[in-house]
Amino acid sequence: MIKMKALVKEKPQPGFLLKEVLMDDELSPDEVLVKVKNASICGTDLHIYRWDEWSQKKIKPPQIGGHEFVGEVVKIGSHVSMVKEGDRVVSETHIPCKHCLQCRTGRMHVCKNLEILGVDRDGVFAEYVKVPEIVLWKIDESIPTDFASVMEPFGNAIHTSLITDLTGKNVLITGAGPIGVMAVSVAKHAGAAKVIVSELKDYRINLAKKMGADIIVNPLKENLVEKVLSNTDGNGVDILLEMSGNETAFQNGLKVVTNGGQVSLLGVFTRNLSFDINELFTFKGLTLYGITGRKMFQTWNTATNLLKNKVIDLSPVVTHKYKLEDWEKGFDVMNRGESGKVILQIG
Ligand code: NAD
Ligand code: ZN
Repeated sequence: MIKMKALVKEKPQPGFLLKEVLMDDELSPDEVLVKVKNASICGTDLHIYRWDEWSQKKIKPPQIGGHEFVGEVVKIGSHVSMVKEGDRVVSETHIPCKHCLQCRTGRMHVCKNLEILGVDRDGVFAEYVKVPEIVLWKIDESIPTDFASVMEPFGNAIHTSLITDLTGKNVLITGAGPIGVMAVSVAKHAGAAKVIVSELKDYRINLAKKMGADIIVNPLKENLVEKVLSNTDGNGVDILLEMSGNETAFQNGLKVVTNGGQVSLLGVFTRNLSFDINELFTFKGLTLYGITGRKMFQTWNTATNLLKNKVIDLSPVVTHKYKLEDWEKGFDVMNRGESGKVILQIG
């Protein structure tokens, strides 16, 4: 048994509790014990913290939260062959079953039996975590710890942006949360002609500018449709990357995608949507890509190459760091939308 500090959703109510817990360090043959160095807070952790409708259905307390992290392998199960003690690792947070049709046909990221760290099982806001070796991705010291810690959401930005060719295209990103902000840089580096970003919060508008956005629209202050059309010769954008999870943003975004354009949908909506799909989608001949997680492990490989070769600098995106003991400050700043990625320093 290992005694460790962990941030636990102790009871079915808002909040987390930082406490000492005991973890059985017995490993099954394919499991790996990882000492967590840094973990970052995701919007999903905020949902669980707030104890909203979605988390009430999904989470079974008591459970340790968190899923984005970087750490070091400290012990391996008897059949583990891809990592060894001392390896520095990040981790895919979607754990595939390896047996279903999708897993067997190169589409593990949409496994039918997916389990998510910190959602369906104990997570990484703790000194140690046990994961199957299949999800681990070894990275070397050249990638700074803070960037390694946010490689998972960076992977969302990469997967959403690069599902289609952005070269020479006009792109609209709706929502400049941490993932939208990272997507700005991915799109620019992929050769997008113009990257337009819509966002409501000033703090995040500034981050999008720092990451290279060409045009910013705040839909609370200006007309998104008019501004996009006037910046695209009246044609609208070729590609929409939906990263807000907001219905109005998505609907207005669809209005300004040019006929025959493409839509990459990452945002998660809290309720069912209602809009004129005939006019906004079908008769415009749009293509829609639903994005779940990251491709295993093509997206991780791309993320590694971009960071290792310093093609993309994530420093503007990592805006706050706190010790695990100060976790409440991190959740507070995220809750107010006055942050990029927030890191908890654990080990
Ligand atoms: P986030 O909630 O921090 O960012 C969303 C941003 O959208 C916020 O900054 C918000 O101010 C902005 N926004 C809200 N309404 C808007 C509007 N009408 N117009 C313009 N901007 C608006 O989230 P994030 O961590 O950056 O993630 C982005 C989205 O992707 C979220 O919906 C998240 O749930 C989702 N997500 C999906 C997956 C997946 O696998 N599909 C994985 C991770 C995150
Ligand atoms: Zn599967």
